[in-house]
Amino acid sequence: MSKIRKNDEVMVLVGRDQGKKGKVLTSIPDRNRVLVEGVNMIKRHMKPSRAVRQAGIIEREASIHVSDVKLICKKCSKPTRVGFRFLEDGRKVRVCKKCHEVID
Ligand SMILES: [Zn+2]
Repeated sequence: MSKIRKNDEVMVLVGRDQGKKGKVLTSIPDRNRVLVEGVNMIKRHMKPSRAVRQAGIIEREASIHVSDVKLICKKCSKPTRVGFRFLEDGRKVRVCKKCHEVID
């Protein structure tokens, strides 16, 4: 179970996008990486082809390591580390280490 998931709001901790906040577009759990909206933008030269409608230089997000971001808790609005807890029905849920509220 990954700590950071798609549609989470995260804050970047390191690099040129340090302090930037964004939504997780894609999570790649086997590689411990995430794509965050507007973060770690790279320029790609695209040649026109049938698959690529927009040729020329396009900007897109490159993945960053999950340890380089912190989840922003929806309850306390603070960047936090994520813990896990089991509910009475056996479900495993994420909890905020700051306010100890269940995140999911
Ligand atoms: Zn919290």
